[in-house]
Amino acid sequence: MRVYNFSAGPSMLPLPVLEQAQREMLDYNGSGMSITEMSHRGKVFMEVNAEANALLRELMGIPEDYAVLFVQGGASQQFAAVPLNLLVNGKADYIVTGNFASKAYEEGLKYGDMAIAASSKEAGYTYIPDVDKISFRPGIDYVHITTNNTIFGTRYTSFPSPEAPLAADMSSNILSEPVDVKKFGLIYAGAQKNVAPAGLTIVIVKRSLLGHASPVCPTMLNYAVQDKNDSMYNTPPCFPIYIAMLVFRWLKNLGGVSEMEKINREKAALLYDFIDNSGFYINKVNKKDRSLMNVPFVTASPELDAKFVKEAANAGLVSLKGHRLVGGMRASIYNAMPIEGVKALIEFMKKFALENK
Ligand SMILES: *Cc1c(COP(=O)(O)O)cnc(C)c1O
Repeated sequence: MRVYNFSAGPSMLPLPVLEQAQREMLDYNGSGMSITEMSHRGKVFMEVNAEANALLRELMGIPEDYAVLFVQGGASQQFAAVPLNLLVNGKADYIVTGNFASKAYEEGLKYGDMAIAASSKEAGYTYIPDVDKISFRPGIDYVHITTNNTIFGTRYTSFPSPEAPLAADMSSNILSEPVDVKKFGLIYAGAQKNVAPAGLTIVIVKRSLLGHASPVCPTMLNYAVQDKNDSMYNTPPCFPIYIAMLVFRWLKNLGGVSEMEKINREKAALLYDFIDNSGFYINKVNKKDRSLMNVPFVTASPELDAKFVKEAANAGLVSLKGHRLVGGMRASIYNAMPIEGVKALIEFMKKFALENK
């Protein structure tokens, strides 16, 4: 019996993808081997790698002059890789809208003269600063943003347009709604929220920005090296790349990212409308900036929150405990969460509210 899993990450994968992976586990495509057992340089895996790359380009409309890299180390590794690759003048600006954005900034400080151009920390990260009002320092190499704030449940609905390239952590909302890749110099995302099992990190980078890596940049983190080697400088994360390919096929069959966005908007609207009208649950995020992927909420007390999380789990609605930094609950409703899961959660919330008023 599968539960509805609201985990923030690693999180749900589409059921048809898991079923196909299960069917193919012992013998991938007539090779007589599992995809996990074969050489990454063999024809069979090379085709998987190429298809995953091509599908991601198609789904996101990634222009030819951008490299698409499949690397390891998670989004957190990119907090260092970004400055190590992109700093030329030695300085960059960060917009700090949550815990991961703050970590990216802290890591960046090791490599250059970094500044916080705007932050929503003073309000508990419950909103996204007005991007049109932010001024950036002259001569910076990039502006770093976090497009969806997984812990606090906010997302950018428009992006700043500085002169310097925009570098974005899209770990928790990549492929959830269309983005114009041309607006960004660099996009990165850990795969374990919307794409694949943990172990794969996607990097999309404009090739004209490559070639300036710091002399101390580890070879493995050097985007130009990864690009030149088709992400096969060393052994890539083969199994997550294969699952990513299946997820990309699933997304394409569904109608692509704009179709996915419609479903995501419908799911999020159901949940937010219910919360706002419940008189029992509260979401503190500025309405305009609410995430389509992560929905934090609280009841009147931490004791009641704990009771909610426990009883929900017993009802097959799991991993609803909020991040330790904010407490309460958080429903992560990534691409793979079916609308039925959101409806089941709302039914449970109604019942719980009646019983605990
Ligand atoms: C999960 C997450 C991270 C951390 O990802 P790792 O792959 O575990 O390093 C970073 N940024 C955002 C926005 C995230 O949601």
